[in-house]
Amino acid sequence: MMEELAERLLKQPPTTVVDLVMTAKGLKTGSEILRKQRDEELESLIEAMGLVHEWKDGLYLDAISKEDLAKQGSDSVSRGRWFGIPECCIKNYQGKNKEELRKRLSLEEVKMLEQGESVPDEFYLGSMGYIPCSLRCQPTLERGIKARAVLEGIDPRLWTKFRNFHIRRRLAEYGGEIKWWREAK
Ligand SMILES: [Zn+2]
Repeated sequence: MMEELAERLLKQPPTTVVDLVMTAKGLKTGSEILRKQRDEELESLIEAMGLVHEWKDGLYLDAISKEDLAKQGSDSVSRGRWFGIPECCIKNYQGKNKEELRKRLSLEEVKMLEQGESVPDEFYLGSMGYIPCSLRCQPTLERGIKARAVLEGIDPRLWTKFRNFHIRRRLAEYGGEIKWWREAK
């Protein structure tokens, strides 16, 4: 049963997998999965994960129960909480420009890497779907550590796939060059 589930999850984009497992394990109340049209396999997978869903043009809302589905709210704070975003990060992005926040994080990241520090892989997993308040945000890291354990508990390949598509590709390009060093010249 678990094996069959793992094979089905492996066919989905890593972001969909992370949304489903985080929701199923209560790391977030619910998630939104974008799809251009209705997707029967995804609907059946949501059910196999023990979740319920609602289709609203262009996206699936999924959660453990119908009551949870209804809790999303419309302001950015209650939406943020619904997605399980840490309070410090919700507070940090209120009223701010997303691009500015992203730029600031990239600079913080480059600074850390240049000093020989590293950002734990789990941090990138934890921050999937929102802009964390800092590269050192502890609740984001903890969220990622929990999510990694869940992914690996289902099948270690799910974590490997996430890491390869969402972390490794961001740094090195073909030829082994690191983008920001080349751009800085
Ligand atoms: Zn934070």
